[in-house]
Amino acid sequence: MSTNRNTIFDHAVQADRQHVWHHMTQHKPFETQAPSVMVEGKGMRLWDVEGTEYLDAVSGGVWTVNVGYGRASIANAVCEQLTRLNYYAGSGGTVPAALFAERLLEKMHGLSRVYYSNSGSEANEKVFKMVRQISTQHYNGKKSKILYRERDYHGTTIATLSACGQSQRMEGYGPFLDGFVAVPDCLEYRRGDTSSESFAEISAKAIEDVILREGPDSIGALCLEPITAGGGVIVPPDGYWPRVMELCRKYDILLHIDEVVCGFGRTGEWFGYQNYGIQPDFVTMAKGVASGYAAISCTVTTEAVFEKFKAFPDDPMNMFRDISTFGGCTAGPAAALENLAILEQENLLDNTRKMGAYLEQKLLSLKDKHAIVGDVRGKGLFWGIELVKNREDDKTPVSERTIAAVVGGCRQQGVLIGATNRSVPGYNNTLCLSPALIATPHDLDHITDALDKTLQKTRCEI
Ligand code: PMP
Repeated sequence: MSTNRNTIFDHAVQADRQHVWHHMTQHKPFETQAPSVMVEGKGMRLWDVEGTEYLDAVSGGVWTVNVGYGRASIANAVCEQLTRLNYYAGSGGTVPAALFAERLLEKMHGLSRVYYSNSGSEANEKVFKMVRQISTQHYNGKKSKILYRERDYHGTTIATLSACGQSQRMEGYGPFLDGFVAVPDCLEYRRGDTSSESFAEISAKAIEDVILREGPDSIGALCLEPITAGGGVIVPPDGYWPRVMELCRKYDILLHIDEVVCGFGRTGEWFGYQNYGIQPDFVTMAKGVASGYAAISCTVTTEAVFEKFKAFPDDPMNMFRDISTFGGCTAGPAAALENLAILEQENLLDNTRKMGAYLEQKLLSLKDKHAIVGDVRGKGLFWGIELVKNREDDKTPVSERTIAAVVGGCRQQGVLIGATNRSVPGYNNTLCLSPALIATPHDLDHITDALDKTLQKTRCEI
């Protein structure tokens, strides 16, 4: 690295320390240690200001960079679009927004409308507003409740935190909004003591009990992650999803699937829900839509929902009265169009399924080897490893300190892994792996070798 570059990097570290307020980060340690500042990425590899190389097993820390770093074709597509037309408000149209909506909907049978905004939280909040407006205009305001599931996460705003199944994320930010009601989670490892099929039945029955208790006529939507991400990578038991969809149809409740993490190939299908043969009424997505090359999120719905917003032509409210300024920035759909083309041209869904099967085998052998590994669960390139003190004795979760030590141990070996972080009291004990969908067996060996060595050491330290 040239001296000039080093000077800029030193300056950046100082500026970061003095001026940047990092997300979900305790700043006290930065009084004595330098923050980590990243400089460059290529494929699955990252380099920081010190020139240290990392293999990124979590796609940018929060399962975002699905097609990997350093994609010049996305950067070029964005550059070309921004030079032609960078922005026009979403009340009008732009060419990339129209073309991306069309390409996206080719992947989503039964859905026909795309509403653009900038983040996963916003995309979810749009659904809540749509559901409330439908309730106001079509049900005299009586169908406004939104059900969400324990352990699921839908965003960081006060409305999305009101629908949060991770109570630690809510601590200190109340009061929250009325009309959001929790249903139980479906973590088989902790709740299931029967066959998978009967656990699915019990879990769906638990949702039905909440619906009946609250009154089906008062409930507008059920909002769920297809596979719970930050709450512990929870894959629902077989037979769960068709039952949940049946409940929604039976009680006239709109099914909202939050694909912010699972969308865009993460599970080996375009969307997580497509693993389960269900038909949602709303699908929200953000992270993988443009793999972090631009800020974009989408709220996708059916023509039947869309039509409800045109039902009263004489009413000035005959529209969705919502706006998102930067939902009109063309960088998002331009990046998303190229991101989608890469996923197709490089067969990355196929790679995800193959590499997912490979990674599952590697993780199951880690489980055989280390008694600290209580459960391994996931789909495609999306895995959770739940650590317990000793699975031969019981399922007592390891402490957050142990989890931090494992994450830190892997980092010392140049591998970045993730963990459930300050979300569910007592259960922040799951490590997360979500490498880019370009991962090779060699990359996955590298990740699991680092994990193996770290777990070996961790077990001795307990
Ligand atoms: N939904 C899920 C499932 C998420 O994991 C997240 C973020 N991790 C969000 C919504 C919120 O997305 P954003 O941070 O882009 O607002």
